[in-house]
Amino acid sequence: MTFPIHRPRRLRRSEALRGFVRETRISTEGLVYPMFACPGTKIRTEVSSMPGIYQQSPDQIVEECREVADLGIPAVILFGLPEKKDETGSEAWDPNAAVQRSIDAIRKAKLNLLVITDVCLCEYTSHGHCGVVQGGEVLNDPSIALLADAALSHARAGADIVAPSDMMDGRVAAIRTKLDANGFQDIAILSYAAKYSSAFYGPFREAAQSTPQFGDRRSYQMDPANAREALREVELDLEEGADIVMVKPALPYLDIIRRVRERFDVPVAAYNVSAEFSMVKAAAQKGWIDEQRIVLEILTAIQRAGASIVLTYHAKDAARWLNHC
Ligand SMILES: [Zn+2]
Repeated sequence: MTFPIHRPRRLRRSEALRGFVRETRISTEGLVYPMFACPGTKIRTEVSSMPGIYQQSPDQIVEECREVADLGIPAVILFGLPEKKDETGSEAWDPNAAVQRSIDAIRKAKLNLLVITDVCLCEYTSHGHCGVVQGGEVLNDPSIALLADAALSHARAGADIVAPSDMMDGRVAAIRTKLDANGFQDIAILSYAAKYSSAFYGPFREAAQSTPQFGDRRSYQMDPANAREALREVELDLEEGADIVMVKPALPYLDIIRRVRERFDVPVAAYNVSAEFSMVKAAAQKGWIDEQRIVLEILTAIQRAGASIVLTYHAKDAARWLNHC
């Protein structure tokens, strides 16, 4: 029996009805706001390709974190810029570097905010790769020891969750072992489990000053054409001890988010990355799109695909719109 018995439009007649039967209800609860910490004090430099996003010294990071917490956003993820880059990226595990100082400042301010830290070397290395380089190759095993050192220094500074984004094999296990050996068995790992080698990271590289100085990241990040391989990457990270797994980017990879959600019973995160943000901002500035509707539709789509946690530069705007609704 179909029409005229069944009329799906019956449940779309008013906003009250539509809200009543809505399958995906977005709120601020799963949002994470990415921030860029740089050395110094009183520094706040806007990233030209990412309107409203700044490189900030720790004192400024805390001020914006206050605003983030007040908006009801539960978490931030911190990326760091070093004073000086070197071959191994040694500022990544320096207790006095920008990320570590920012965590400490957020803790001292007693903000009701989860602090997640990005764990990688690319912002800190002179060559811009996510691991140790020798003879033009990015070496795996020596890199994971350094990544574990970086994660430990974040835990010591007071991070709640560490998030390795390097895509070296075995890094989750190395970080878990290192954290546990130092009494940080309760610090969770959010792994960038399925991270694709993507052109959508372009504006981020300006923000994090992490463009590789030679070659590209295709020998460690995933080929955008592969979906089954993403499930294998996720499975390996879970076996190594990841607590939350992430798919990155988000919007062009909704099918991957869906497949990960269906296969694994752990929290799934997605990173709505820089170019996804910048494209919306640029089109909105030209008056070509309705920014609010586009952003809320994007965030709904990412959650509908299966990600309950969304890292997004739109977090503050979205929270303002959602809180007013
Ligand atoms: Zn990296």
